[in-house]
Amino acid sequence: MSADDTAAAAGAATTGGDALLEVDDVVKTFGGLVAVDGATFDVERASITGLIGPNGAGKSTLFNCITGVHRPDSGAVRLNGDEIQGLSPTAVARRGVGRTFQTPKTFRGMTVRENLAFAAKGQTGERALAPLLRAGTVRSEERDLQERVDETLAFLELDHLADEYGSALSGGQRKLLELGRVLMMDPEIIMLDEPVAGVNPSLTDDLLDRLEELNDRGRTILFIEHDMDVVMGHCDRVVVMHNGKTLASGPPEIVQEDERVVEAYLGGYDE
Ligand code: ADP
Ligand code: MG
Repeated sequence: MSADDTAAAAGAATTGGDALLEVDDVVKTFGGLVAVDGATFDVERASITGLIGPNGAGKSTLFNCITGVHRPDSGAVRLNGDEIQGLSPTAVARRGVGRTFQTPKTFRGMTVRENLAFAAKGQTGERALAPLLRAGTVRSEERDLQERVDETLAFLELDHLADEYGSALSGGQRKLLELGRVLMMDPEIIMLDEPVAGVNPSLTDDLLDRLEELNDRGRTILFIEHDMDVVMGHCDRVVVMHNGKTLASGPPEIVQEDERVVEAYLGGYDE
Protein backbone atom coordinates (compact mmCIF):
# COMPACT_ATOMS: atom_id res chain seq x y z
CA MET A 1 0.00 0.00 0.00
CA SER A 2 1.33 3.46 -0.86
CA ALA A 3 1.61 6.24 1.71
CA ASP A 4 -1.36 7.96 0.06
CA ASP A 5 -3.51 4.87 0.31
CA THR A 6 -2.57 4.49 3.95
CA ALA A 7 -3.65 8.05 4.61
CA ALA A 8 -6.95 7.42 2.84
CA ALA A 9 -7.57 4.37 4.99
CA ALA A 10 -6.60 6.05 8.26
CA GLY A 11 -9.18 6.35 10.98
CA ALA A 12 -11.24 9.51 11.34
CA ALA A 13 -11.12 9.97 7.58
CA THR A 14 -13.67 12.21 5.97
CA THR A 15 -14.54 11.72 2.34
CA GLY A 16 -13.66 15.20 1.22
CA GLY A 17 -16.70 14.85 -1.04
CA ASP A 18 -20.30 15.88 -0.65
CA ALA A 19 -21.20 14.63 2.83
CA LEU A 20 -24.88 14.01 3.52
CA LEU A 21 -24.23 12.63 7.00
CA GLU A 22 -21.29 13.52 9.22
CA VAL A 23 -20.46 11.62 12.40
CA ASP A 24 -17.98 13.67 14.36
CA ASP A 25 -16.18 12.25 17.42
CA VAL A 26 -19.30 10.58 18.85
CA VAL A 27 -18.98 9.00 22.30
CA LYS A 28 -21.65 6.88 24.01
CA THR A 29 -21.15 5.11 27.32
CA PHE A 30 -23.38 2.79 29.33
CA GLY A 31 -22.26 3.10 32.93
CA GLY A 32 -18.56 2.26 32.80
CA LEU A 33 -18.72 0.70 29.34
CA VAL A 34 -17.60 2.84 26.40
CA ALA A 35 -19.73 1.45 23.58
CA VAL A 36 -18.84 4.16 21.03
CA ASP A 37 -15.50 5.86 21.50
CA GLY A 38 -14.96 8.85 19.25
CA ALA A 39 -16.49 7.47 16.06
CA THR A 40 -15.85 9.76 13.10
CA PHE A 41 -16.80 9.33 9.45
CA ASP A 42 -18.78 10.86 6.60
CA VAL A 43 -21.43 9.32 4.41
CA GLU A 44 -21.19 10.80 0.95
CA ARG A 45 -24.43 11.73 -0.79
CA ALA A 46 -25.69 8.97 -3.13
CA SER A 47 -23.14 6.46 -1.86
CA ILE A 48 -23.59 2.97 -0.48
CA THR A 49 -21.53 2.97 2.69
CA GLY A 50 -20.98 -0.17 4.75
CA LEU A 51 -20.29 -0.11 8.48
CA ILE A 52 -18.50 -3.27 9.49
CA GLY A 53 -16.83 -4.61 12.60
CA PRO A 54 -16.90 -7.57 14.96
CA ASN A 55 -19.80 -8.21 17.34
CA GLY A 56 -19.86 -5.69 20.15
CA ALA A 57 -17.86 -3.11 18.15
CA GLY A 58 -20.55 -0.50 18.78
CA LYS A 59 -22.21 -0.43 15.36
CA SER A 60 -25.83 -0.67 16.51
CA THR A 61 -25.19 1.80 19.32
CA LEU A 62 -23.73 4.24 16.80
CA PHE A 63 -26.84 3.82 14.62
CA ASN A 64 -28.92 4.58 17.70
CA CYS A 65 -26.89 7.75 18.31
CA ILE A 66 -27.49 8.87 14.72
CA THR A 67 -31.23 8.11 14.71
CA GLY A 68 -32.14 9.68 18.06
CA VAL A 69 -32.62 6.47 20.04
CA HIS A 70 -29.59 7.44 22.16
CA ARG A 71 -28.26 10.87 22.96
CA PRO A 72 -24.45 10.75 22.54
CA ASP A 73 -22.39 11.73 25.60
CA SER A 74 -20.41 14.01 23.29
CA GLY A 75 -19.71 14.64 19.65
CA ALA A 76 -21.91 15.73 16.78
CA VAL A 77 -24.05 14.15 14.08
CA ARG A 78 -24.85 16.40 11.12
CA LEU A 79 -27.34 15.88 8.33
CA ASN A 80 -26.97 18.29 5.43
CA GLY A 81 -24.78 20.34 7.76
CA ASP A 82 -27.38 20.61 10.56
CA GLU A 83 -26.71 19.05 13.95
CA ILE A 84 -29.25 16.34 14.74
CA GLN A 85 -27.72 14.59 17.76
CA GLY A 86 -30.08 14.54 20.72
CA LEU A 87 -33.23 15.02 18.60
CA SER A 88 -36.05 12.50 19.11
CA PRO A 89 -36.27 9.51 16.74
CA THR A 90 -39.42 11.03 15.22
CA ALA A 91 -37.67 14.35 14.59
CA VAL A 92 -34.69 12.59 13.00
CA ALA A 93 -37.01 10.54 10.79
CA ARG A 94 -38.88 13.70 9.73
CA ARG A 95 -35.58 15.15 8.54
CA GLY A 96 -35.20 12.26 6.15
CA VAL A 97 -33.35 9.52 8.02
CA GLY A 98 -35.05 6.13 7.58
CA ARG A 99 -33.73 3.10 9.43
CA THR A 100 -34.40 -0.56 9.90
CA PHE A 101 -33.54 -2.55 12.99
CA GLN A 102 -31.47 -5.69 13.56
CA THR A 103 -34.78 -7.32 14.54
CA PRO A 104 -37.49 -6.13 12.13
CA LYS A 105 -40.22 -3.95 13.64
CA THR A 106 -43.22 -4.84 11.53
CA PHE A 107 -46.75 -5.36 12.79
CA ARG A 108 -47.60 -9.03 12.88
CA GLY A 109 -51.33 -8.38 13.25
CA MET A 110 -51.55 -6.12 10.18
CA THR A 111 -51.41 -7.19 6.56
CA VAL A 112 -48.38 -6.33 4.46
CA ARG A 113 -50.43 -3.65 2.71
CA GLU A 114 -51.58 -2.18 6.02
CA ASN A 115 -48.05 -2.21 7.38
CA LEU A 116 -46.90 -0.08 4.44
CA ALA A 117 -49.82 2.34 4.55
CA PHE A 118 -49.46 2.77 8.29
CA ALA A 119 -45.75 3.63 7.95
CA ALA A 120 -46.58 6.54 5.62
CA LYS A 121 -49.41 7.79 7.83
CA GLY A 122 -47.34 7.59 10.97
CA GLN A 123 -44.72 9.71 9.28
CA THR A 124 -46.96 12.51 8.05
CA GLY A 125 -48.26 13.01 11.62
CA GLU A 126 -50.36 16.13 11.90
CA ARG A 127 -50.19 16.64 8.14
CA ALA A 128 -52.37 13.53 7.87
CA LEU A 129 -55.12 15.46 9.65
CA ALA A 130 -55.18 18.28 7.13
CA PRO A 131 -57.17 16.36 4.51
CA LEU A 132 -59.83 15.59 7.11
CA LEU A 133 -60.42 19.29 7.34
CA ARG A 134 -60.77 19.46 3.57
CA ALA A 135 -63.21 16.62 3.07
CA GLY A 136 -63.07 16.71 -0.72
CA THR A 137 -59.43 15.73 -0.86
CA VAL A 138 -59.67 12.70 1.42
CA ARG A 139 -60.38 10.28 -1.35
CA SER A 140 -57.56 11.49 -3.57
CA GLU A 141 -55.07 11.42 -0.68
CA GLU A 142 -56.15 7.87 0.10
CA ARG A 143 -55.78 6.97 -3.57
CA ASP A 144 -52.27 8.45 -3.69
CA LEU A 145 -51.34 6.47 -0.62
CA GLN A 146 -52.63 3.21 -2.08
CA GLU A 147 -50.71 3.91 -5.30
CA ARG A 148 -47.53 4.35 -3.32
CA VAL A 149 -48.24 1.14 -1.43
CA ASP A 150 -48.72 -0.68 -4.73
CA GLU A 151 -45.48 0.74 -6.14
CA THR A 152 -43.58 -0.31 -3.05
CA LEU A 153 -45.09 -3.79 -3.12
CA ALA A 154 -44.08 -4.15 -6.77
CA PHE A 155 -40.59 -2.77 -6.20
CA LEU A 156 -39.94 -5.25 -3.39
CA GLU A 157 -41.74 -8.06 -5.26
CA LEU A 158 -44.05 -8.51 -2.31
CA ASP A 159 -47.27 -8.15 -4.36
CA HIS A 160 -48.22 -11.77 -3.84
CA LEU A 161 -48.04 -11.26 -0.06
CA ALA A 162 -50.01 -7.99 0.04
CA ASP A 163 -52.91 -9.39 2.04
CA GLU A 164 -50.93 -11.75 4.27
CA TYR A 165 -50.51 -10.87 7.91
CA GLY A 166 -47.07 -9.87 9.14
CA SER A 167 -47.07 -12.98 11.32
CA ALA A 168 -47.22 -15.20 8.21
CA LEU A 169 -43.97 -13.86 6.71
CA SER A 170 -40.54 -15.49 6.87
CA GLY A 171 -37.73 -13.59 8.58
CA GLY A 172 -36.35 -12.53 5.20
CA GLN A 173 -39.73 -11.36 3.94
CA ARG A 174 -40.16 -9.36 7.14
CA LYS A 175 -36.87 -7.62 6.43
CA LEU A 176 -38.09 -6.72 2.94
CA LEU A 177 -41.32 -5.41 4.45
CA GLU A 178 -39.37 -3.36 6.95
CA LEU A 179 -37.40 -1.85 4.08
CA GLY A 180 -40.76 -1.13 2.43
CA ARG A 181 -41.99 0.66 5.55
CA VAL A 182 -38.87 2.81 5.47
CA LEU A 183 -39.35 3.59 1.77
CA MET A 184 -42.92 4.73 2.46
CA MET A 185 -41.40 7.54 4.52
CA ASP A 186 -39.43 8.67 1.45
CA PRO A 187 -36.14 9.13 3.33
CA GLU A 188 -33.04 10.85 1.99
CA ILE A 189 -30.77 8.31 3.67
CA ILE A 190 -31.68 4.71 4.41
CA MET A 191 -29.86 3.09 7.32
CA LEU A 192 -30.10 -0.67 7.72
CA ASP A 193 -28.82 -2.73 10.63
CA GLU A 194 -27.69 -6.13 9.33
CA PRO A 195 -30.34 -6.30 6.60
CA VAL A 196 -29.32 -9.72 5.31
CA ALA A 197 -28.41 -11.48 8.56
CA GLY A 198 -30.45 -14.67 8.82
CA VAL A 199 -31.98 -14.15 5.38
CA ASN A 200 -31.80 -17.04 2.89
CA PRO A 201 -29.35 -16.61 -0.02
CA SER A 202 -31.90 -15.90 -2.78
CA LEU A 203 -33.73 -13.32 -0.68
CA THR A 204 -30.35 -11.85 0.30
CA ASP A 205 -29.57 -11.30 -3.37
CA ASP A 206 -33.02 -9.74 -3.88
CA LEU A 207 -32.52 -7.39 -0.99
CA LEU A 208 -29.04 -6.32 -2.08
CA ASP A 209 -30.33 -5.79 -5.64
CA ARG A 210 -33.13 -3.59 -4.28
CA LEU A 211 -30.61 -1.54 -2.32
CA GLU A 212 -28.42 -1.08 -5.40
CA GLU A 213 -31.44 -0.03 -7.42
CA LEU A 214 -32.48 2.50 -4.79
CA ASN A 215 -28.95 3.82 -4.87
CA ASP A 216 -29.03 4.07 -8.68
CA ARG A 217 -32.08 6.29 -8.22
CA GLY A 218 -30.02 8.57 -6.00
CA ARG A 219 -30.73 7.34 -2.47
CA THR A 220 -27.94 7.32 0.04
CA ILE A 221 -27.54 4.05 1.89
CA LEU A 222 -25.65 3.25 5.09
CA PHE A 223 -25.75 -0.33 6.25
CA ILE A 224 -24.26 -2.41 9.00
CA GLU A 225 -23.07 -5.79 7.88
CA HIS A 226 -21.06 -8.53 9.49
CA ASP A 227 -20.17 -10.35 6.28
CA MET A 228 -17.05 -8.87 4.66
CA ASP A 229 -17.90 -10.30 1.23
CA VAL A 230 -21.29 -8.61 1.12
CA VAL A 231 -19.76 -5.30 2.11
CA MET A 232 -16.85 -5.54 -0.29
CA GLY A 233 -19.17 -6.51 -3.15
CA HIS A 234 -21.81 -3.81 -2.71
CA CYS A 235 -20.30 -0.73 -1.08
CA ASP A 236 -18.62 2.36 -2.51
CA ARG A 237 -17.12 3.07 0.87
CA VAL A 238 -16.48 1.04 3.97
CA VAL A 239 -16.11 2.18 7.58
CA VAL A 240 -14.57 -0.29 10.01
CA MET A 241 -15.44 -0.17 13.70
CA HIS A 242 -13.61 -1.92 16.51
CA ASN A 243 -13.93 -1.37 20.25
CA GLY A 244 -16.16 1.65 19.65
CA LYS A 245 -13.66 3.38 17.37
CA THR A 246 -13.75 3.90 13.63
CA LEU A 247 -10.45 2.27 12.66
CA ALA A 248 -10.47 2.91 8.94
CA SER A 249 -12.66 4.22 6.19
CA GLY A 250 -12.36 4.38 2.44
CA PRO A 251 -13.03 2.41 -0.73
CA PRO A 252 -13.44 -1.32 -0.01
CA GLU A 253 -10.32 -2.42 -1.90
CA ILE A 254 -8.16 -0.09 0.18
CA VAL A 255 -9.76 -0.85 3.53
CA GLN A 256 -9.48 -4.58 2.85
CA GLU A 257 -5.70 -4.23 2.69
CA ASP A 258 -5.48 -2.31 5.96
CA GLU A 259 -3.50 -4.36 8.48
CA ARG A 260 -5.55 -3.15 11.42
CA VAL A 261 -8.73 -4.28 9.71
CA VAL A 262 -7.31 -7.70 8.96
CA GLU A 263 -6.15 -8.01 12.57
CA ALA A 264 -9.53 -6.91 13.91
CA TYR A 265 -11.21 -9.62 11.86
CA LEU A 266 -8.69 -12.26 12.85
CA GLY A 267 -9.38 -11.34 16.44
CA GLY A 268 -5.75 -10.42 17.03
CA TYR A 269 -6.42 -6.77 17.70
CA ASP A 270 -6.56 -5.98 21.41
CA GLU A 271 -5.66 -2.81 23.19
P1 ADP B 1 -22.52 -4.19 17.57
O1 ADP B 1 -23.81 -3.72 16.98
O2 ADP B 1 -21.32 -3.69 16.85
O3 ADP B 1 -22.48 -5.69 17.70
P2 ADP B 1 -23.47 -2.88 19.98
O4 ADP B 1 -23.55 -1.45 19.61
O5 ADP B 1 -24.73 -3.66 20.00
O6 ADP B 1 -22.39 -3.60 19.04
O7 ADP B 1 -22.81 -3.01 21.41
C1 ADP B 1 -21.60 -2.35 21.76
C2 ADP B 1 -21.37 -2.57 23.23
O8 ADP B 1 -22.32 -1.82 23.97
C3 ADP B 1 -21.51 -4.01 23.68
O9 ADP B 1 -20.56 -4.25 24.69
C4 ADP B 1 -22.92 -4.05 24.22
O10 ADP B 1 -23.07 -5.04 25.20
C5 ADP B 1 -23.07 -2.65 24.81
N1 ADP B 1 -24.44 -2.14 24.82
C6 ADP B 1 -25.20 -1.91 23.73
N2 ADP B 1 -26.40 -1.40 24.08
C7 ADP B 1 -26.40 -1.33 25.42
C8 ADP B 1 -27.36 -0.87 26.39
N3 ADP B 1 -28.56 -0.39 26.02
N4 ADP B 1 -27.00 -0.93 27.71
C9 ADP B 1 -25.80 -1.39 28.07
N5 ADP B 1 -24.84 -1.82 27.22
C10 ADP B 1 -25.13 -1.80 25.90
MG1 MG C 1 -25.48 -4.74 16.25
